[in-house]
Amino acid sequence: MSLPKGRISAQQAEGLFNAGDLLALGRMADEIRKHFHPDNIVTYIIDRNINYTNICTSGCLFCAFYRTEKSGEGYVLAYDEIKRKIGETRDVDGVQILMQGGLHPTWKIGDYVRLLKNIKSDFDIHMHAFSPPEICHISEQSGISVRETIGRLMEAGLDSIPGGGAEILVDRVRNRLSPNKCSADRWLDVMRIAHGLGLKTTATMMFGHIETIAERIRHIERIRELQDETGGFTAFIPWPFQHGQTALHKMGIEKKVGSLDYIKTVAISRIMLDNVPNVQASWVTQGPKVSQMALFFGANDMGSTMLEENVVKAAGVSFRLSEKEIRELVADAGFTPRRRQQDYSLLPEPVTA
Ligand code: SF4
Repeated sequence: MSLPKGRISAQQAEGLFNAGDLLALGRMADEIRKHFHPDNIVTYIIDRNINYTNICTSGCLFCAFYRTEKSGEGYVLAYDEIKRKIGETRDVDGVQILMQGGLHPTWKIGDYVRLLKNIKSDFDIHMHAFSPPEICHISEQSGISVRETIGRLMEAGLDSIPGGGAEILVDRVRNRLSPNKCSADRWLDVMRIAHGLGLKTTATMMFGHIETIAERIRHIERIRELQDETGGFTAFIPWPFQHGQTALHKMGIEKKVGSLDYIKTVAISRIMLDNVPNVQASWVTQGPKVSQMALFFGANDMGSTMLEENVVKAAGVSFRLSEKEIRELVADAGFTPRRRQQDYSLLPEPVTA
């Protein structure tokens, strides 16, 4: 099996995925990784996830993290707590905060602006915050356009937008899993507007639940189409669905993405996304060994050291890796580990490395 000439179509990608020749798929993906990263560097970032609230009006069937306002188990972090968490992140040379939360029923633009301004007045740190469903929600709650919402958040200190809440960008899937969340077109529109305003963003895909392989590939294709238009995506992050404690699990949908399916999906992502420079491996969901294997199937980034992670943990998965362990995994696979910033620029090596 050899790489089709030129850009591959969705149909060709589905054929490659189903052909079952894993090693050939790996070779194709690795060829494209080497094109983007000929120096064999594999990056990671020291950052922390802060989930400012778990109160959410959306009720997505795959989510074990959210609580309703009336549940008695909802929280909104006090600013002092957020400040403490960011201070701890800075103490270990963290360069970024990934801040996301539930779709809060009463918060409006002023609450998010205040939060960002407080953080930026206390810390010089990159704020990678508020995924497209949150942006849509803030815009609707506040009666302002998405463009104005993003503009005001940028003025307050927003530096980039995480690609969360994409799940599968096909409305058949979204209508069933997350009917109260923004549509596929709206998700892409938020990113289009953000890119137009000069923000870089990532794109994710949460797969392995009710979608077909064709729908998974359509998702990747939609990211590729928008990237052709804007060039604003820095990375693609495919995450396998974690079913524990979710409504889908209670409904009997207990599918678990196996290592083979995961690796093939990483490879197909790398092959299709010939215009996105970085593909991330997910050790948080797949564990260290499979994420190490993903480096031979197109991935060139190990993501975050995850000083804190709440969403995957709520679904019962809790892999933990130190920076040292991430570096060893990368080096043992024959690559050079390097710390990076959100824009994938490299940072100086740690003194103790
Ligand atoms: S995935 Fe996000 S939007 Fe959906 S229920 Fe969970 S916190 Fe709310």
